[in-house]
Amino acid sequence: MICLGIESTAHTFGIGIVTDKGNVLANEKDTYTTEEGGIVPVKAVEHHMNCYDDIIRKALRKAKLKIEDIDIIAFSQSPGLGHTLRIGAMAARSLAAHYSKPLIGVNHCIAHLEIGNLTTGCKNPILLYASGANTQIIAYEAGKYRIFGETLDIGIGNFLDSFARELGLGFPGGPKIYELAKKGKTYIDLPYSVKGMDVSFGGLLTNLKQKLKSGKYSKEDLCFSAQETVFAMLLEVSERAIAHCGKKELLMGGGVACNRRLQQMAKDMCEARDAECFIPSDEFLIDNGAMIAWLGIIEYKAGNKTRIEESRVMPYERTDEVDVNWR
Ligand code: AMP
Ligand code: MG
Repeated sequence: MICLGIESTAHTFGIGIVTDKGNVLANEKDTYTTEEGGIVPVKAVEHHMNCYDDIIRKALRKAKLKIEDIDIIAFSQSPGLGHTLRIGAMAARSLAAHYSKPLIGVNHCIAHLEIGNLTTGCKNPILLYASGANTQIIAYEAGKYRIFGETLDIGIGNFLDSFARELGLGFPGGPKIYELAKKGKTYIDLPYSVKGMDVSFGGLLTNLKQKLKSGKYSKEDLCFSAQETVFAMLLEVSERAIAHCGKKELLMGGGVACNRRLQQMAKDMCEARDAECFIPSDEFLIDNGAMIAWLGIIEYKAGNKTRIEESRVMPYERTDEVDVNWR
């Protein structure tokens, strides 16, 4: 059985082709970026519209398959930007209807977790999901993937991208902040906001903007201090979730998890508490079509299907609203 998965929750349009044995035959994508400023949803839509058929063809070529060889079409139905989700949903519906294939709409956050399980071999982790719009600590308990902690305002990636914009860097800003942070020498005290199991970044962003404007601090030190602070916040709540659930595995997911400093801090925390740290390769950390295809396979095997009339996108669906009938 082979599934073609379509990812379009935000700036990435991705197509993955995956078999029911978990072999990734193709994982092609194209990402909307800017030299200055952040994502403009209408521009991201234009980007996806311009590249979607090309990416589908590229993925099929890479997998050495024809569309007729595909058994299932999966797409990211939730959560994300309504504008961009609709492009993926439209492509998925057209392919499914035209070639008479079953259609499966999946939750993007859960797809991050399941591709992590597949590619790293972890079994029952706490997922630290750190991406552009999402920042959540997720784990499986009693029939659902539950959210044990999350951001109370913006996602960590949005925080990094917004600060990068203040620094005059383009989108995505996370990797550029990482490069500047490597040259930082002095830690500058910043607000640290952990509230119970939740985190928040808004106040910290305002504080950083003020410090930047004051001209008293170097950009490098500000980037270094910002990273150290927000990553420590994420790992504090991850560690508490591990302790609370009595789990022994930490899995990382999301674009910000590509950050090597965050990865090192996660490994250090796991070592200190005798847990194992699982980090997928960058290709599967960032948004990608393979994770959508893999969750499509899992859900299809569990008997799930999405009828065309139920295939409306759900920009605000939460991870814990999904009935997990496959574990
Ligand atoms: P996603 O939404 O999962 O595709 O992740 C996108 C986010 O990841 C953007 O906010 C990027 O700035 C951020 N990002 C990508 N690579 C890195 C990196 N190496 N360090 C920090 N953030 C990153
Ligand atoms: Mg994501």
